[in-house]
Amino acid sequence: MTIPKINLHIHSIYSDGRNKIETIVKSAHKLKFEFIAITDHFSDSWKAGVIKTLDSHQKINNYLEKISAQNEELRAKNSNLKVLKGIEIDLGSSRRHIESLIDPSKYDLILLEYLHSPEAIGFVRNILNNWEGILQKQDKSFPLLGLAHFDPSQFIFGKVEILLEFLQQYNIYFEFNSAYASYYSIKYKESFFDKFNNFNILVGIGADAHSVNELDLIHEPLDMIKYYNLENNLKNLIKLLKNIR
Ligand SMILES: [Zn+2]
Repeated sequence: MTIPKINLHIHSIYSDGRNKIETIVKSAHKLKFEFIAITDHFSDSWKAGVIKTLDSHQKINNYLEKISAQNEELRAKNSNLKVLKGIEIDLGSSRRHIESLIDPSKYDLILLEYLHSPEAIGFVRNILNNWEGILQKQDKSFPLLGLAHFDPSQFIFGKVEILLEFLQQYNIYFEFNSAYASYYSIKYKESFFDKFNNFNILVGIGADAHSVNELDLIHEPLDMIKYYNLENNLKNLIKLLKNIR
């Protein structure tokens, strides 16, 4: 399998990105991407006071409809590009905010940002248990889950296995994010990335693009995935993406 062009972390004007969803999609089509994800911010922590977020049912519905309409246009054009309905949840948000506004069945991809401690894993587990109940009632499975720009230094002192077991259990992928290149530094090779194959950890690529100029910043993450011998882990993620079609 050749690796299709993917960028699973993009912000639009629905949060702190500079471009409209339509503009991003047009640009991604020209750049011959096969999968992109629009992943605007969701938060009620300090972050919500600083940037625009997806903060109401109306805004979220409007956002998701915009992405669906883009996919319909792409299908009509026989484009190879698929746009995933994503969202990036700040784990500093309150559980109440997350559970009142996020219906997991409406997304193709949910990115989790700021997983900073083993305690935060407990917080995520509670959210995922709640979502599991919602999804079961609708006879649906989990959307794809990803760990956005995760800093390995938070966990490399004896807690890596706790994290990797958790990622494996829920099939949460590790994102190679070109905006945070220090988080995939070769200094973490032995303590972190070399353990990915034992746990079958999925890996993905996201540029954290806030403008169309940054859409194509995916080459360094791909090189690093190859350097760590994680190409098959990426291919396994791509198989899941293809099922979304
Ligand atoms: Zn982001």
